[in-house]
Amino acid sequence: MSFTQFHFHPGIQSGIQDAGYTSPSPIQQKAIPPILEGKDILGLAQTGTGKTVAFVLPILQHLLKTRRTASSASPSALIMAPTRELAEQIHESITLMASHTPVKSVAVYGGVGKYLQIKALRQGVDIIVACPGRLLDLMNEKALSLKEIDILVLDEADQMLDMGFLPDIRRIIRALPKKRQTLVFSATMPKMIGNLVQDILNHPIKVQVNQTGPAPRIAHGRFNVQREKRTDLLKTLFAKNGMSSTIVFTRTKHKAKSLAVQLKKSGFNAVSLQGNLSQNQRRRAMDGFRSGSFKILVATDIAARGIDVSGVSHVINYDLPDTVETYIHRTGRTGRVNQPGQAYTFTTREDNKTITLIEKALGRKMTEESLLPA
Ligand code: AMP
Repeated sequence: MSFTQFHFHPGIQSGIQDAGYTSPSPIQQKAIPPILEGKDILGLAQTGTGKTVAFVLPILQHLLKTRRTASSASPSALIMAPTRELAEQIHESITLMASHTPVKSVAVYGGVGKYLQIKALRQGVDIIVACPGRLLDLMNEKALSLKEIDILVLDEADQMLDMGFLPDIRRIIRALPKKRQTLVFSATMPKMIGNLVQDILNHPIKVQVNQTGPAPRIAHGRFNVQREKRTDLLKTLFAKNGMSSTIVFTRTKHKAKSLAVQLKKSGFNAVSLQGNLSQNQRRRAMDGFRSGSFKILVATDIAARGIDVSGVSHVINYDLPDTVETYIHRTGRTGRVNQPGQAYTFTTREDNKTITLIEKALGRKMTEESLLPA
């Protein structure tokens, strides 16, 4: 299958070529045709499936086909995402795909000054990629109008709801035209999403890949370890195994920070990614991890959610995630686009109940791992 079947505008085809995509991924094959037809979509797909491109390409096609671009002060498409990193990632994908077209996008999120964002909005953009909090801020300041939005995308909707954005999202949606196309993407389908979807989607087409299940090529192992011995175990693992690129998940921001410091002191190339960092620090951590100058990223769930880094070899759950869904999200950072990956979870006997639930979702037992101290 090839992208030519969608009959995209030649400028979009060139963007696809620049990106080096040769054939559409399964979510793209399933989602692009109904989106092009103007249908509402509920897309059940995780990061790593190519879902961003699945909604970006039809949005570009819509913009190029139907209306003026960029010169307008009123944007036509709004994409909401839970974290600054994800908003940036989506914005980058649009910039790449639209590089041979006049379409302009801007990412707006908190933690940085508003000035540049407002300036970009004033200059005219077609697509806004936004985190809900900053978007509301800008709306309150009358820095933008959403009156001409005709495509709305909620990306990682489950995560936005987990983060308590539902009231903000509902307020933003109330400011949008009723007549519009709405696309909701979510990795999981908790009840709250069901309710939201019922309210905002009109006869949606459900497209699903991978059943929201675990990525198929990830090996799942567990280490039974006393809590106070976890850092030593981590260091031993790093010293012994060829872990080229590893994300370590902790429950709290504080732990992510202190663990990264401890690892660094022991000579490991680690950096933390957590909500207490400034936007610049977060970017430095992400860029450094992406480029390979940091081999270990110690992250909290919220900071790392939705992040797409290719070639993550290992994911380590230093702290057990609270839910099965979080486990699937975390471990899905490895094994991307059909690469093999390894997930390790540090557990104690008290965790057996959660582990059983995770194993049920995986459809297999986790391997019991052990390692003699170095
Ligand atoms: P996403 O699920 O949107 O986070 O995308 C995951 C990764 O897949 C990104 O790095 C994209 O650049 C890449 N990607 C998206 N579509 C394709 C495609 N058709 N072929 C190859 N890679 C793709």
